[in-house]
Amino acid sequence: MSKNQQMLRKHREQPAAPRPPATSPADELVAGNPMDLAGWREGMVVRKSQGQYTVLAGEHSIQCAISNRLRKQLVYPIADPGSLRAHVVAVEDIRTVDPIAVGDGVQFIDGGDGSGMIVAVLPRRSKVVRRAAGPKPLEQVIVANVDQVVVICAADRPAPSWELVDRYLAAAESTDVPARICITKIDLIAPGALDEEVANYRAIGYPVDLTSASSGAGVAAFAEVLRQRVSVLAGKSGAGKTSILNAVQPGLGLRVGAVSAMTGKGKHTTSYLELFPLAGGGGVIDTPGMREFGLWDVDEDGIAPLFREFRPFVGKCRFGASCRHHEEPGCAITAAVGAGQITPRRYRSYLRMAS
Ligand code: ZN
Repeated sequence: MSKNQQMLRKHREQPAAPRPPATSPADELVAGNPMDLAGWREGMVVRKSQGQYTVLAGEHSIQCAISNRLRKQLVYPIADPGSLRAHVVAVEDIRTVDPIAVGDGVQFIDGGDGSGMIVAVLPRRSKVVRRAAGPKPLEQVIVANVDQVVVICAADRPAPSWELVDRYLAAAESTDVPARICITKIDLIAPGALDEEVANYRAIGYPVDLTSASSGAGVAAFAEVLRQRVSVLAGKSGAGKTSILNAVQPGLGLRVGAVSAMTGKGKHTTSYLELFPLAGGGGVIDTPGMREFGLWDVDEDGIAPLFREFRPFVGKCRFGASCRHHEEPGCAITAAVGAGQITPRRYRSYLRMAS
């Protein structure tokens, strides 16, 4: 087994779901040309800032730059492997797109003094993308090799916004990364108070963890959910993220929260994403907003399939793809709401997102 495989295995011993191999041209080219030369090491990008990448290799962090050769290779995508002419990307676009993402496995040359040079990006298992701004949008990978999205929501103080939860879930669906929900602060509510919502989310396929950092309820089970996986955390400040992470691993929430406070203010949010390794393998990445998920790129008729229980009915409306699933006659979605196959609450979330 190669070092890379060992590293990936450490972070993903029990995959949440099998995933097909990446097949898009972008995935192929991002593999670069991994080489097998003495003096090259492998690690994982845990932070990046202004062209510098912090690479975790074993217990050590190395500050790495990216080689010019690799940068050119990654941002000048080849339009068609059969074509002799490379697709040339405008210089201004190249500046806006960072070819290396947090979570990427990389090969680097170790300078031996805490610095290094990244020379290849290893193939990605999964990726969360958004379109980079600009007249010719390029795919920008925000986080690579993510195993799951965990939507974090408080049981009370503040009262849960299920509509926001649904938005995060839809965003996760648009990335093809499996999602689950962690409800925090359950000590603040009467037992069973959220049973209906919890049962509904579970019924449509989202696991729900009920936790309390105060009482310790559900903490061990949630720690097991995070263990050896790379998780993107979604949820507003106040959702109890810091406390539950501190309960999982002392100090973890405080470190995550310090970075999130920074990203919450700045407009260059994605520049400050950071992967926090977990003691037992795996890691967490906090994201304070949904923009990171690229949900803004979904057009209106692409939203219904992001509500997973809508999918059996999508495409079956009388007016086909032009149906907005609102008041059109013969709409399969509204019929499913009437028949109790879709809850009115989830349907309202859909309408809010689609309007
Ligand atoms: Zn419809």
